[in-house]
Amino acid sequence: MSVVWSPKLDNDAQGWLDISAKLTREKFAPLADELDREQRYPWESIDELVSSGLAGIFIPREYGGQGASLTSTVAVVEHVGSGCSSTAAILCACQLGAFPVLLGGTEEQKKKYLGEMAQGTATSFALSERSTGSDAAAITTTAEREGDGWRIKGEKYWIGNGGASRYYVVFAKTDPEAGGRGITAFMVDKESKGVEIDELNDKMGIRGTNTSNLKLDTWVPNDAMVGEEGRALRLALQTLNVGRIMVSAQSTGLALGAYHTAAERAVARVTFGKPIIDNQGVGFRLADVATQLSAARLMLYEGARAYDAGEDIQTLGAMSKLFTTELSHMAADVAVQIWGGFGYCKPNLAERLYRDQRVLEIYEGTSEIQRLVLARAVRQEVEKSS
Ligand SMILES: Cc1cc2nc3c(=O)[nH]c(=O)nc-3n(C[C@H](O)[C@H](O)[C@H](O)COP(=O)(O)OP(=O)(O)OC[C@H]3O[C@@H](n4cnc5c(N)ncnc54)[C@H](O)[C@@H]3O)c2cc1C
Repeated sequence: MSVVWSPKLDNDAQGWLDISAKLTREKFAPLADELDREQRYPWESIDELVSSGLAGIFIPREYGGQGASLTSTVAVVEHVGSGCSSTAAILCACQLGAFPVLLGGTEEQKKKYLGEMAQGTATSFALSERSTGSDAAAITTTAEREGDGWRIKGEKYWIGNGGASRYYVVFAKTDPEAGGRGITAFMVDKESKGVEIDELNDKMGIRGTNTSNLKLDTWVPNDAMVGEEGRALRLALQTLNVGRIMVSAQSTGLALGAYHTAAERAVARVTFGKPIIDNQGVGFRLADVATQLSAARLMLYEGARAYDAGEDIQTLGAMSKLFTTELSHMAADVAVQIWGGFGYCKPNLAERLYRDQRVLEIYEGTSEIQRLVLARAVRQEVEKSS
């Protein structure tokens, strides 16, 4: 039995985990350093994700996917994330693009876009803008009626998988006076006239992923609308509820990678005649990482189970993202410290994980925004009971 708690998976989830473990060991992990060094998008890994079925793992069977549970999906993302943070982030970005269609799309949209996604044609989630990330209701991109469709104008920023994706779920104001209640989502094809994509280069971490800026002055037909007019902020937040569980899986995966490299090093490295793990200053830090990592995984798998059971995961998702991402911060930091000077210099796994980790506390809602969501929930609970 391993020190860090492991979930008992059903046969289906275990099957997916085995597939992802083999691919991570043989393909994804060996590429991770090169992707980081060369800032290269791993197209060859995308081919592997498609042929193994992992690209469409969460997409229902009727739309060409595998119809797996969220529990299976997080087991895969976690394992991939323990070997290559960029590949795990790409998997998450693809799911983030799929969810608005899954939750709010018409039958035709589901057939078209989810079917293509299962075959590796990615869709990105385009909500954030240069002037606003946390305060999503303050976006300034607009969509105005023009003929049998809509003219979308504006700029989206930090779009995950941007450039590599063919489609973008773009959130735009259709009623600027209505604030958060005036936001509508549209599918935008990158091949359309008036869509310009610029890559944001030289990120701190997850350097094998594409992150892009999207400039829009483009027209889409009426049937490009995803969900109801004016209701897309809700759709975005529902998508992010699931997305936060996925980021939790990235985080525990990364933390597992950091924990293992740190523990192995602490046993192998001898100073003053004994392995450094035998000093409480080192051993106790690993004990704390193992304990918090176990707690983080319990939270992650409970969140996925709750989603699969149809329960509301807003609060648990926020807690899970907050806890798992901050735990991964601690685990990566401990790994660098235990590796000492080697941990500060490339190439070293702890050094890469330390950089890859940081974004987990920023995207899909910063730690502060998770605390905001949770503080509101606490207040509502007290007000309801008084
Ligand atoms: C690599 C990468 C990939 C991304 N992928 C996507 C994507 O695919 N799609 C997408 O739409 N976006 C994406 N984003 C954007 C990301 O979601 C935002 O960067 C994030 O939500 C934070 O928004 P911001 O950067 O505007 O920070 P701000 O909102 O300006 O916040 C700045 C700081 O202030 C804090 N803060 C803000 N408001 C409050 C408050 N009320 N109380 C306390 N503290 C507060 C924040 O927590 C943060 O620390 C990505 C970002 C990165 C870096």
